[in-house]
Order: sequence, then C-alpha cells, then structure tokens
Amino acid sequence: MSFEKLAKLIYPNMDKNPKYYFEKYPKRNLPEGAKVTRYAPSPTGFQHIGSVFSAIIDERLANQSGGVFYIRVEDTDQKREIKGAVEDTIETMHKFGLNFHEGMVSRYESKGDYGPYRQSEREEIYKTFVYDLIKKGLAYPCFCTAQELGELREKQIKEKITPGYYGQYAKCRNTSTEEAIKRIESGEEYIIRLKSPGHPEGKVEIHDLIKGIVAFPENIQDIVLIKGDGLPTYHLAHAVDDHLMGTTHVIRGEEWLSSAPIHVQLFQVLGFQVPKYAHTPTIMKIDGDSKRKLSKRKDLEAAVSYYHEMGYPVESVTEYLLNIINSDFEQWRVDNPHENSTNFKVELEKMSKSGALFDLVKLNDVSKEVIARMKAEVVYNNYIAWAKEYDNEMYSLVTSHEALSKAIFNIDKEGLNPRKDFAKWCEVREKIFYFFDELFNREEKEAIELPSKMNLEEAKRIVETYSKEYNFNSNKELWFEELKAIGLTLGYTANRKEFKANPENFNGMIADVAATIRTALTHRVNAPDLYTVMQIMGEAKVRGRFNKFLEE
Ligand code: GLU
Repeated sequence: MSFEKLAKLIYPNMDKNPKYYFEKYPKRNLPEGAKVTRYAPSPTGFQHIGSVFSAIIDERLANQSGGVFYIRVEDTDQKREIKGAVEDTIETMHKFGLNFHEGMVSRYESKGDYGPYRQSEREEIYKTFVYDLIKKGLAYPCFCTAQELGELREKQIKEKITPGYYGQYAKCRNTSTEEAIKRIESGEEYIIRLKSPGHPEGKVEIHDLIKGIVAFPENIQDIVLIKGDGLPTYHLAHAVDDHLMGTTHVIRGEEWLSSAPIHVQLFQVLGFQVPKYAHTPTIMKIDGDSKRKLSKRKDLEAAVSYYHEMGYPVESVTEYLLNIINSDFEQWRVDNPHENSTNFKVELEKMSKSGALFDLVKLNDVSKEVIARMKAEVVYNNYIAWAKEYDNEMYSLVTSHEALSKAIFNIDKEGLNPRKDFAKWCEVREKIFYFFDELFNREEKEAIELPSKMNLEEAKRIVETYSKEYNFNSNKELWFEELKAIGLTLGYTANRKEFKANPENFNGMIADVAATIRTALTHRVNAPDLYTVMQIMGEAKVRGRFNKFLEE
C-alpha cells in the first residue's frame, strides 16, 4: 500500500496504466517472419558513417521480410541536442535510399500508429511504466548526491570491488517508503532507480544474432530509470519503446552489448517479451600497424558529409557498406552486374563477428566499378549535381559544353570492359581538364608530362612532322597505320623484338610516338585512347594544340 502512496506522490497526475498503452499500441498484424526494425539516432548533429551502415541493415531486414522500418529519435539527452540534426538525418537517409515506413518519413511529415516517434514526446508513457514499477516495489527514489556517488565509486575502486550502485552499496534501496515519502515532501531531489532482482552469482546468456551466445553475469546494478530532469535513461526508454512499437529486432552497435544484461532484465521486470538482439561490429580502420575505431575526431571519413563533399556517388558508399555487411556481396555483384543492390539479401548470420574493417582503397575500387556501370548521361547528371555545390568552374564549363562533356564521359563505356577512371567526382577535373581550352591553356610548363626517355626537343620533332602528315578524317585502323608510317620515317619501330635486339638502331618504339602526341594534346601521359581523344577534340583543337606545343 505504501508503495502506491509513494508512486502517487512522485506522479500525482498519473491517470494511465500499462494496460492502457498495451491497448493503444496493439501487437502488429504482420505476416509470419516479418521483422520490425528501427533506426534510433540521437540528434547530436554528427552523422557517423557507422549510422548509415546500421540503417542499411535495419532497412534491408525489414523490407526483405515484409516488415516495418521506422525511425525513432532518441532525444532524451537534451544537453547534447543540436537544432536541425533530425532533419539532416532524415535527408541523409533518403539520399541513401533509406525510406522509413513510420516516424518522420520526411522533413514535414510523420506517420504511423505507434508514435510519437520522438522520445521527448513520450514522457508520459515512460512515467506510466515507472509509476507501475514503483507501485510494485520494483523501482525506488534515490536521494544520493553526485558527490556521494563519486565518493562511493572512489572507495570501491580503492578496495578493488566492482564499482556501482548495487546490493549493500545501494543506500537508498533500503530506505523505507515512509522515509522516502518524507524526504520527497521536504523537497529533496531524487532520481528513480530499478531495484535490480539480479543475483551476484547469477548468469545470463544473450542470444545475439551476430555474435552467437554470449554469457554475462546477471545485472545487479540498480540502474537509473528516470534522471533528475524527469526524463528517462536510454535503458528505460528503449525498453518501453521497443516493446510498445513492436520492434522484433534491436540492431545496434556492439558498444551496447555489455549493457544487454541490463536490458534483458529490464524487459523481464517490465513484463515484456525480450526482442531479438543483433550487435553490429564497430567500424575499424588500419592505422600504421594496428587497428582502431574509426574516430569522429581523427578521421574525416567517419563523417557522412565527407563522402558527399568528395563526390562519392551514394550507390558507391551503399555498395561498399554492403561489402562490409556481408562479404559475399562482392561475388553477388560480379554475378549480377546490372541488378539493383537492393536485390541482394542481407543476412545477419553472415556478418563478421569482430570489427568491420573500413578501407578507403577498397571503397575507391568499388566506386570505380559503380561509376563505370553508369551510363554517360547518368555520370553527367551526377557530376554536375556535385560540381554545382563544390566546383563552380567545372560546373559552368561542363554544363556549357554539354554534348562534349557527355562524349567525354562516354569514352570506352560501351564495351565489355568500361574504363574505370573516377572513384569520386572530385577526381573528374584532373582527368578531363585538357578537353577545355580554358583549363588547358592555364597549365604551367612544369605540369607537362613527357613520356619517359623523351626530351622536349625530340618531342617537338615528332609533333612537328606528325602535325604536317596526319589525316584527321582517317578511320581508326587507317589512322593507326599512318601514325606507324610517320613513326618509321622518324626512326621509330613497331617491332619490339627488333628493338630489344638492337635498341641503338632506333629512336624508340611507335608507342613512344603515340605517347608524345598524347602529351601534346593533353599534357598527360595517361589519357584514354588517343584516336578517341582526337575525335572528341575535333580537328581545329587538335591542330591548335600541336601548334601550341611547338611554341612551348
Ligand atoms: N540512440 C542510440 C545511439 O544513438 C541508439 C542505440 C539503439 O539503436 O538502440 O547510440
């Protein structure tokens, strides 16, 4: 009886009970095996690439099983909240093609029958469950000050005993309800703790869908349920929400695994069915000789914004993350080059149990493949969208030469083995600048790359002769025969064997002649097929380039 009095004193206006909410949020009516997953960001303003990684898993599992993928904003730590962060998160998720079925489905619209989907708007719900626990003697007010708790911790550490608020150290656990009532009435401040039913010798097994069975000692800590500001802790809020919202699979970072015994206990105390847990591996990177966590402070690539700024297509990042999620994605992509990556089946059982290794080199490889598969038109559209934001000059050059730019993006695209020039849009400028006089003419002399073993004087001799004798309108085969013939008259050979046997008899190979012409036109030794480059440039530009080179 006195527990009830205590509960009423703490929440005098309580007019609901758990049953009310169980009825308000009934069990979802979904097909057998359908998974309900949630993306549960805290709006702290920083979007870690690990969040996208998690959200892809959530979204895939829900959609693959005909389930529900919803967003729930975990904003009970109001000190850490940044304005606009929720909207940013939603937009980022949309960019990655991750669309929520429930919650804030867009900047302007929230939907679903299990809301509100912001924890800060669910205070009443948490209080109802805490009221019920206090009433049953399963939770209690704790009046210990921060200083007292600090001292307790110090003492425990000094005496080498497990620190925390539990058992004999949980001072307020044994405060009588009468005394607690008195202290509250006299205006003392307090928080609400769980009266943990855990046993020091007890063991609990977590059946994690990624890690397998993990055994832990039972939780004995009287963890905080309601903080001094009246808001719930993550422990309480996620338990109440995941239960009422019908989450079947709690998929979250492995940093939460050690708290799982608390959560399992809390679900049991609350009388809820424990959901399935899957703790995803932390994203790691190689740093020197060791592996470490991808750090928000040290690593630019930890931020989702980095990929946007560099111009990685979202498909590339998604495919790369799918590679980390399930390593057989790579083979699937080889076998299904034209399928949408959403057709790949994500399975928790196939995930690596330990750290997921993040590697920008691999991302670049994946991204080159993704861009290589895009049609020139798509490359063009993606590129201008990026350049509009990050490279104004390229944006105006490319858009004012649309046909030329599309022809450039189409070089060697149609064949079986399309060129893999770009991993990210910020690389495009350096790879195509020479097609634009505005950029080419600005090049410093020092930037001109000559083929190895070629000096400027000899290069000019080649270009001078070639420019006089070549025919722009010859087809590719003939054009090459003509290049060869010009090379022979200049003392170059097409016969590698002959050249190897008597290098002193020749100035070099025909390939050196072609490389020199390429340099005159592009200032670079690496560029796509020379004939194609010349055809795209057009005769006037090609002749202009030859003349310019001879003047250098
Ligand atoms: N809000 C928690 C976080 O951002 C989510 C953990 C969870 O998914 O349960 O870490």
